[in-house]
Amino acid sequence: MARGNHMDIGVTTDGGKLVDQEKRHLNYLRISITDRCNLRCLYCVPEGRIPKLDHEDILSYEEILRLVKIGIQLGIRKVRITGGEPLVRKGVVELLGRLTRIRELEDVSLTTNGVLLAANAQDIFDAGIRRINISLDSLDPGKYAQITGYDQFNQVWAGIQRAREIGFNPIKINVVAMRGINDNEIIKFGRLSLDHPFHVRFIEYMPIGNSRTHSRDQILTPEIQEMIATIGVLTPVGNDQNDGPARRYRIAGAQGEVGFISALSQHFCSHCNRLRLTADGKLRACLLSDRHEPLKELLRRGGSDEQLAEIFRTAVRQKAAKHQLCPNGVTTVKDQMQGIGG
Ligand code: SAM
Repeated sequence: MARGNHMDIGVTTDGGKLVDQEKRHLNYLRISITDRCNLRCLYCVPEGRIPKLDHEDILSYEEILRLVKIGIQLGIRKVRITGGEPLVRKGVVELLGRLTRIRELEDVSLTTNGVLLAANAQDIFDAGIRRINISLDSLDPGKYAQITGYDQFNQVWAGIQRAREIGFNPIKINVVAMRGINDNEIIKFGRLSLDHPFHVRFIEYMPIGNSRTHSRDQILTPEIQEMIATIGVLTPVGNDQNDGPARRYRIAGAQGEVGFISALSQHFCSHCNRLRLTADGKLRACLLSDRHEPLKELLRRGGSDEQLAEIFRTAVRQKAAKHQLCPNGVTTVKDQMQGIGG
């Protein structure tokens, strides 16, 4: 494990906070709590079976909470629970409740595919979650089944409606835009923001791990934005501090918003504030680089908080100034998205 004077090697402790060589303050930890998922999205999983982590390889909730508390000492203020599909893991609502009760965390949120949302939305809300992201790549039940491998559109839509009734705010709907797959629905998704208060966010497809899609399926933001602009005038909406990298707009007269997340065409590395904790306990400083620091082994060997904190600092030291993926580039990220969490 690297040690030394952090000021000299690019990571300041800036009052105990994680600040990298690019002076980025890393205060956001995204946690994948499982690599299991109840969908098999074309762009996320390959043909055939993919190896699953054994239960003992996945961090326990106690281990996750300990790492979150260490992260908080280092300046983490925002946590997102993701997966795999987080709602398939038993006890997730209790974990969410324990996280939202941590005073130092200013924001705890959840990303889900929504399949199990209708049944769990009230408990998730009661656990203190208000901000929720739901992945939905088609508004057509048949197409949805084609993309995800499961005929669950109605279930997800019921979950979204339930989340709205209960009062989640914002409800963000994440759409991975893919040529020849759902590009004919981009306008329909944009229109969804007209009469629903949803934040519809178009995400550029990123070639990560093995999947059944390719870089040639990418549709980049400029093209998507051009299509959305045919619906009406787009007025930029200012980001608040809990917003991520989406460039946000409101279509004239809309209740909701549209947003564009352009990891490839206009990367946002210069203000990336994220670290990722994978389901099997690795700390990744960049989604688009397989470089990681293992935390689980030290955690289970009885490592001290300070030793674990040092691993956070090491990961931050390794955070590249910017990722190396480019539009239509080849896949350089070998790890699968469902273990990393997106
Ligand atoms: N199961 C949850 C869900 O579906 O939202 C959480 C995990 S999923 C990996 C998180 C997000 O990553 C989803 O919005 C998904 O669409 C997105 N995602 C997965 N693979 C992607 C890829 N290759 N490019 C862009 N986004 C991707």
